[in-house]
Amino acid sequence: MEITLAVIKPHVLRNTYAFQQVKQLIKQNFNVLQAKEVRITKELSEQFYAEHQGKFFYHRLTSFMNSGPCYALILQSEACIQKWRSLMGPTKVFRAVYSEPQCIRALYGLSDTRNACHGSDSEASALREIAILFPEFQVKSTAKTQVKQ
Ligand code: ATP
Ligand code: MG
Repeated sequence: MEITLAVIKPHVLRNTYAFQQVKQLIKQNFNVLQAKEVRITKELSEQFYAEHQGKFFYHRLTSFMNSGPCYALILQSEACIQKWRSLMGPTKVFRAVYSEPQCIRALYGLSDTRNACHGSDSEASALREIAILFPEFQVKSTAKTQVKQ
């Protein structure tokens, strides 16, 4: 089975209803191997989003991620990476609202930056991102027990 990293962005945590809904959707679809509230400092955020350095939204994005606590989860399922990205929906919220009105970004996204959640885009990205936010996590010991939330 595959694993991926999901991050719920700060504005969703500030909305209790939205946060509960997203967590419930996650529990219905994945094994949650790890989950924690995490403060993604500007430095951590710049490391996390290194691939976007130089893009016009880079400063906006890394500042936003540091604007309040995030909630990070390691998810496991068959085809987990694609499954979580499908549940999130398109990156751009206006497109999400138009084309997939029931996806997480359509329901809880506010703008292209505040688009509710993050999901790794490949196995390599998942491993890199998990190492940043869950440095203690041992990827090889994947016969893990489900974390209760
Ligand atoms: P994520 O990596 O967050 O799962 P993604 O893979 O769909 O989303 P990326 O292209 O990797 O999208 O962009 C990373 C993040 O950068 C997006 O989630 C969004 O918050 C922000 N972002 C991307 N494009 C834009 C844009 N045009 N304007 C503002 N913010 C953007
Ligand atoms: Mg991405």
